[in-house]
Order: sequence, then structure tokens, then C-alpha cells
Amino acid sequence: MSRDAFARGDFPLLARTVNGRPLVYLDNAATLPMPRLVLDELCAFRSNSYANIHRGVHTLSEESSRRYDEARRTAAEFIGGNEPELVFTSGTTDSLNKAAAMLAPRLDERSNVVITAMEHHSNILVWRSLARRTGCDLRVAPVDGAGALDTGAFRALVDESTKIVAFTQLSNVTGIANDCALLSGIAHERSDAVVVVDGAQGVVHLPTDVSALGCDMYAFSGHKLGAPTGIGGLWVRGPLLETLEPASFGGGTVWEVTSDRAVLSDDVERFEAGTPPIDGAVGLASAMRYWRAHDLDACRLRERRLIDRLEAGLANIEGAQVLGRAPERTGCLSFSVDVASPFDWAKLLDGLGVAVRSGHHCAQPYLEALGCAGAVRASVAPFTSKDDIDRLLEALAKASLVLK
Ligand code: PLP
Repeated sequence: MSRDAFARGDFPLLARTVNGRPLVYLDNAATLPMPRLVLDELCAFRSNSYANIHRGVHTLSEESSRRYDEARRTAAEFIGGNEPELVFTSGTTDSLNKAAAMLAPRLDERSNVVITAMEHHSNILVWRSLARRTGCDLRVAPVDGAGALDTGAFRALVDESTKIVAFTQLSNVTGIANDCALLSGIAHERSDAVVVVDGAQGVVHLPTDVSALGCDMYAFSGHKLGAPTGIGGLWVRGPLLETLEPASFGGGTVWEVTSDRAVLSDDVERFEAGTPPIDGAVGLASAMRYWRAHDLDACRLRERRLIDRLEAGLANIEGAQVLGRAPERTGCLSFSVDVASPFDWAKLLDGLGVAVRSGHHCAQPYLEALGCAGAVRASVAPFTSKDDIDRLLEALAKASLVLK
């Protein structure tokens, strides 16, 4: 097995044809296809051990409980955290909502939350809603003309009243990364804020060690790593987690309930009310093992070269404009081509077997800051080949003849 790339044969979805052509899948930033290993392990788990966890003493329940607990260990290790710090959620959006609900008691009219102008809607709307409910001020750090965060403006917005600072590790639009260690350092130096990192894209394309990032909370989704949808994680630094009240209550969160009193569990499960996504967690662990069987630094270097190849190729497509400017882009790139809307381009590309994302990419304020209403996004994975990029460029050239 070559370790600097994922074998295409490991992904059954990549073998299909779309509109009569072999599929070129460049919508990985939305959702990654599932490796066969994940499909097989899920099928085996569902067929052999599937049962509810931590509630029964029968063999299947114990087997399922063991797999779920192992999955938490694998997921925590994948991001450099400890097992008791990793709360399973349904994905990044759910993680951010849970974070906001748990941090709400720290806010009032005198406090503020700082986010950035390059966020996904999921990392905007939760904080807007929190600000409305608590009366705190929501401050948005701007981006510069190239689409990168204006670090000086960010620093100026953080003060002793800042209680939460939330930013993305990696943009899902421009592929521009934030220096999380630097931003966390600024936040912690100037305030006692909880630093929340949206790792939806970063966990896939960047080396992720929560200690090195310097954050207090880290949110990610499993489906962007090849796990099923409906599973994700919220990592919370241990001492902080100890101080937080769960955002929801129910079965699985308590040790004892009497007619007038409940004793909350000491385990991290106290943050996972009800039956959790058991098979999702098993699928996530299996996807993470698949990733870890590869040389991820080499995979990521390959991905960067492919994005560079695409950016260079777009220079030859008449009217194409790449969003933002960056010496280095990670995972994705978005562009517009003036003769048609992103939707029309994406439809034409789909007719040629090429899957890309079109629209505002759930980041409308960022697009607005970049002076653009919508764009086509191509996003890569460690199975993406030069040929995929060239087929996208050829398809764009062909489609532009139709649209002229
Ligand atoms: N944040 C970023 C940067 C994303 O790219 C996404 C999804 O594309 C999300 C948050 C939301 O992730 P999910 O829909 O899995 O909750």
C-alpha cells in the first residue's frame, strides 16, 4: 500500500459513473466518500454486536459498549486529546451548539464574544443567538483584501470582557488556514476567554493536536473523514469540562435518580443524553484508523500540489477568478467564472461527470467580504489525482464553449 495517498480502489463510490463518465469527485469538503473498510466494519458491527450500550450486562451490550468506549479513545487520540475530554456529538454544528449552551451562563450584557468574518454559518449563528439571549456583544474580526484574518483587528477586539473567542482552523471557501496557536495565545493573553476552534475542515487537512492549537474546545465532524453522517466530536479541555453543566439531560447521564434528586455521572457520558450514535462512533473510529494507516504529512503535501495545479490551470480559463489570495491553500479553492452563475457551472460540470459544490458554501458574510455572491468550490482528498484536476479543467474549458 502506498502511504502518501489513499488508494481509489478503497472507495467504492469512486468506481461509479455519473452521466456516462467516470466520476471525478471534488466535493470532499462537503462530505468524504466512505472507505470500504468503514463500510465493512460498520456492516460487521451492525450484523454481530449491535445493541444499546452501558445499560445491559448481556454479551451484545457489553461488546457494543466496549466498541463505543474504544471509539472515544481513538477519536480523542486522533486530535491529541484525552479520552475523558471527548464528547460525541452529531457533528461540528451540534458541537458548536453544545459549546454555546454550556458556556451561556458565563455571559451577560457586560461581556462579549469574538468571532471572525471568515466563518461558516454554523460558527456564526450559534454565537449570534447566544448574544441575543444573553445581551452580550458579538464582535466580528474582519478579513483583509486577500481573505485572510486581520490579526491586528482581531487582537484589538479581544479585551478583559471577552468570554468566548471562536474561529475556524481552516476556511471551507478559500482554503486559507488560521494560525490557531497565535490566535489562542492572543485570546488567552488578553482575556480569560474560552477559545473554541471550528475544526470541520482542519481536522481533515491539517496536523491537529489540540494542545498545540492552544484552544479550550475543538469541534469536528466525522463525515468529512469518511465516517457516516450523524457523528462528530466536541473536545473540551479537562479542567474546563469539569466546570460545565451539560446542555441536555436524560438517560445515560446520571448515576442515580430518586423522587427528588439526581446524581450526575462523573464520566464524560454525562454530556451525551439518551442513546448516543453508537454505530456512528464505531464508523468514526474505523475511518480514523484508515487515515492513520497513511503518511498524512505526505498526503497533505500531495493535496497542496493538486490545489496549486488547479489554481495555475484556472489562469487559462477566460474570466475565471479565484477567491482570496494566499501563498498556500489547503484542501479547497473557490472560483467564479463571469459568463455564468456557479449553479450553471456546477450543473454543466456534473453533466461531464465532475462533482463540485456551488453557491455560498454556508459562508455568506465571508463571500460578501470577498466581494462575491457565489462561487464554484473544488475540494480535494488524499485519493484525488492530477487526472481529476485536469478533467475539471478540461470540463471547464468545454463548458465555457457552451456558455459563451
Ligand atoms: N464549519 C466548517 C468550516 C465547515 O466546512 C462545515 C461543513 O461544511 C461546518 C462547520 C458544519 O459541519 P456539519 O454540517 O458537519 O455540522
